Amino acid sequence: MEIVFGNSGFVPAPEALLRRGGAWRWRPLRVRFGVLRHPVKGVWLIDTGIGPEVTEAPGRSLALRAYARLLRYRLSIDQSPQAVLGGMGLRLRDVAGVIVTHFHADHVGRLGELPMARVVAHGPSLARVRAAHDLANLRHGVFADLIPQGVETRMTCVTSVARATLPFGLGEGADLFGDGSCLAVDLPGHAAGHFGLAFPHLARPLLYAVDAAWVLPAPGDTRAPGYPLRAVLDDVRAAEASMARIAQWQAAGGQVVLCHDPAPSGFDVPS
Ligand SMILES: [Zn+2]
Repeated sequence: MEIVFGNSGFVPAPEALLRRGGAWRWRPLRVRFGVLRHPVKGVWLIDTGIGPEVTEAPGRSLALRAYARLLRYRLSIDQSPQAVLGGMGLRLRDVAGVIVTHFHADHVGRLGELPMARVVAHGPSLARVRAAHDLANLRHGVFADLIPQGVETRMTCVTSVARATLPFGLGEGADLFGDGSCLAVDLPGHAAGHFGLAFPHLARPLLYAVDAAWVLPAPGDTRAPGYPLRAVLDDVRAAEASMARIAQWQAAGGQVVLCHDPAPSGFDVPS
């Protein structure tokens, strides 16, 4: 299976906020999304990255405008999902499905461009988004208007998928393609239902830990970031337990990629 990560855009953040002991220098964080090419299940995206639906679409809600202005996202047009797929000889309509790791705006921004794709996501979290008031969602960086109406009819809930054993003693994960090649790993704390993806069949198994940390922590450091980032976590204790799972994966020799880490990964599309 082929795995690549595109960078849909940048979001500036001071390093000291992201990692304890980090410098007070602003760094452009990446906003990765993944493209999987599975020999049987076809082409799948991991999230959709940040898109114009968040940063510039004229019909955006006031809340979305305020959010985009506050975080100062900058799109990288040459690495939109369309551009990255194009570089692989593919089009958006070739995408069989999207694995949505959580419902934050910078992970679902372009879902509206994939109206036919299957979706794998954490169903209870989506139900919570649908039921919540806009203000409550805004507090969590979630905008119901970015999640297509009726997506539930083409969605598989990750909790309903048969589970298989994860490497390195991490327990079990949902076996998304039924062949052990891509397993959803519970990494709660950052957002409700947040999960990562393990690829155990690679020569050096990969854990895409998405937003369980913003930058790769120093080996063994399982502390959640300090305030104010700590305040946006869904559950601080769960976040620290998820960081401990990342540390366990690294200590056993596995590789880890994160959504926002500015350091290049071996899976990134060259820019
Ligand atoms: Zn997030």
